[in-house]
Amino acid sequence: MMERNVVLYPGLGVGHLVPMVELAKVFLQHGVAVTVALVEPPSETLEFYAAVARIAASNPAVTFHELPPPPPAPAPAHAGSGSGSDGKSAKPIVQMLEFLNSMKAPLRDFLLSLPSVDALIIDMFCGDALDVAAGLRLPVYSSFTSAASDLAVFLNLASMQDSISFGELGDSIIPFPGVPPFKASELPSNILSDEEACRCVLHMLGRIPESKGILVNTFDSLEARALSALRDGLCVPGRATPPIYCIGPLVSGGGGDKDDECLRWLDAQPDNSVVFLSFGSMGTFGKKQLEEIAIGLQKSEQRFLWVVRSPRVDENNLAEPLQMADLDALLPAGFTEATNGRGLVVKSWAPQVDVLRHRATGAFVTHCGWNSTLEAITAGQPLLCWPLYAEQRMNKVFIVEEMKVGVAIDGYDEEMVKAEEVEAKVRWVMECECSEALRQRVAEVKDAATKALDEGGSSRSAFVKFLQDLRPPMA
Ligand code: UDP
Repeated sequence: MMERNVVLYPGLGVGHLVPMVELAKVFLQHGVAVTVALVEPPSETLEFYAAVARIAASNPAVTFHELPPPPPAPAPAHAGSGSGSDGKSAKPIVQMLEFLNSMKAPLRDFLLSLPSVDALIIDMFCGDALDVAAGLRLPVYSSFTSAASDLAVFLNLASMQDSISFGELGDSIIPFPGVPPFKASELPSNILSDEEACRCVLHMLGRIPESKGILVNTFDSLEARALSALRDGLCVPGRATPPIYCIGPLVSGGGGDKDDECLRWLDAQPDNSVVFLSFGSMGTFGKKQLEEIAIGLQKSEQRFLWVVRSPRVDENNLAEPLQMADLDALLPAGFTEATNGRGLVVKSWAPQVDVLRHRATGAFVTHCGWNSTLEAITAGQPLLCWPLYAEQRMNKVFIVEEMKVGVAIDGYDEEMVKAEEVEAKVRWVMECECSEALRQRVAEVKDAATKALDEGGSSRSAFVKFLQDLRPPMA
């Protein structure tokens, strides 16, 4: 019998690649051959290259194939976007979607070069690959790399985009099926602040139901309400929602370099004593905000491990390449000396999964990226939520109000989070008995996550069901 063979297409972004590689490992465990088709970013995003190299090195069993760059002709405007073709005035998200659109030909050539492919699994931003697969009569499944609650909202938004001007909603509350009511201002800024970006993003997300099924990196009991709304067809009015397979939490296994500076430093700290601050693969702060965080941490008198990046020139341009942080120039004078021994600041990157699972770590200040959220849940860490970009403000709502595994850091939606707030929330989670209920809830959710992945658990069964639904292997 010929073995089955699938191609995974993660598009761009570390947060999209990480769960796709974890998904590749699950396929391999089930005896399905898998190739991850990588896209070379159009601009020099060194962080992305470094992350790809790290991920590839720590997953030798996974086959990666780097697609060649798109044809040199000017990229066509993204279907349905109505954007200009020079791309210069467009937002980074629009440029990214246009670039992914231009990758259709290299993707098609690659798929044609393979002796057999049973399915193409695409990231939520790679909807143009649906056209490629249609031409090859190849089944396509979507991999949604954020929460099922986000999926519920996005599918709903896509269906209402012609009737609402999102930028005018202000702080009004929008009641979406399956999620707690939240203010329109918690929607991603791309949707709120730029008409073209809004149209492009929602057009792309609105294509997700065209796939044969949606794999979501979550587990049933974590987001029962959103999943019911999705499965009952409440989120895509007037159209059937394809089957939803909750197969998570898929998080990287960690187990990286034991000699890493962060891990060695944590080894010397008491159990559950360190608050870890890390803001995803792209999060940055301006110098003034970094100073406020530093003062808050210093005054909290708690142990901390903090990943610091250099500020961007344009804080809203996530595509801007990052410089190596100059800590002496960025942090307040005397901070390093004052916190010597109880705090460690690292530049740019920490082995996050290993840090979260370390016995010395006791809480996580996070930007609420979905991978970070799942990594914290599976490590049993309470979350202090400081959302920055993309869908993270919505995730904050779901984490705090629905999953109840974290609390918000006040001021994230204002000009500055004050040092007093950093101090207060860090003290609250690290030393106040009042945070005990939160810790207990996190422990329960961690337990539920483990059970979902066990033999007979909901996520394990969902993946088996998904494999059955895939076109059966040819005899
Ligand atoms: N990450 C890491 N070290 C860092 C920052 C990020 O290992 O210093 C990893 C993190 O563990 C996660 C990914 O990068 O797997 C970030 O994904 P997430 O969805 O949380 O956020 P995004 O980067 O997409 O905003």
